[in-house]
Amino acid sequence: MAEQDYVRFGGNTSCILITFENGRVAILDAGTGIRKLGHDFAARSIEQYDQIFVGLSHTHWDHIQGFPFFEPAYDPKRRFTISIYREGQTTGDLESIFATQMQRHYFPVSLDKMGATLQFWQTDLSSFTAPSGVEVRASKHNHPGDAYGYRITEGNTTLVYCTDVEHAGGIDPKVVAFARNTDLLIHDAQYTPDELRDKKGWGHSSWEQAIEVAMQAGAKKLALFHHDPEHNDAFLMKVEKECQRLFSEAFLAREGLEVEV
Ligand SMILES: [Zn+2]
Ligand SMILES: [Zn+2]
Repeated sequence: MAEQDYVRFGGNTSCILITFENGRVAILDAGTGIRKLGHDFAARSIEQYDQIFVGLSHTHWDHIQGFPFFEPAYDPKRRFTISIYREGQTTGDLESIFATQMQRHYFPVSLDKMGATLQFWQTDLSSFTAPSGVEVRASKHNHPGDAYGYRITEGNTTLVYCTDVEHAGGIDPKVVAFARNTDLLIHDAQYTPDELRDKKGWGHSSWEQAIEVAMQAGAKKLALFHHDPEHNDAFLMKVEKECQRLFSEAFLAREGLEVEV
């Protein structure tokens, strides 16, 4: 497969920018997509300097690896709050995980020399209201080493981010309850139903399961997320058509896609 087979959906790993009605922004996950998001910060003149929230689903490489390449984190005027839900001690110390991936064996600049103020925050996000009025709820789901979903509500609008989730033994009712009536559900859809049979224990879902969750939960829109890197554009376009046949408001997430909810 050639490189040009991967241009439509893109090959970067998980990273999402949320722009709230109140004009503030927040980021979910810091995969390789955050490098380009850094350029967007400049291009869109995002003037938010305080408390830019970076919420992490978990700390597997594909969700933190882009951070050393995130230009706004080199801007001494910016302050980031890098956060993950703390339920028990399942995630290690977040700051040391970020510092480790920037040790000199791996990267030329250490975390403490980046420039921006980085605050690491591991707290109970099972129910949290930000000063801006945005509500955040986090929930642990099944993934090797654990991962967390986030339900974010501003006014009457809700977004649910639920990636790196494996529905072991049927659709997880906890995930369905978490996504109940959301305006937009972003759900893991790494595998085809066939592939999923051989990938038990890998921590991901099939697109069919993502649709099932969206339908059971009454989600209004579904973004199928976290595509398998082996799936090229032509293949994913076929998957998208099939998904839309089952759930008309389903679409495949792709690089740079903007969705209004
Ligand atoms: Zn993972
Ligand atoms: Zn992942």
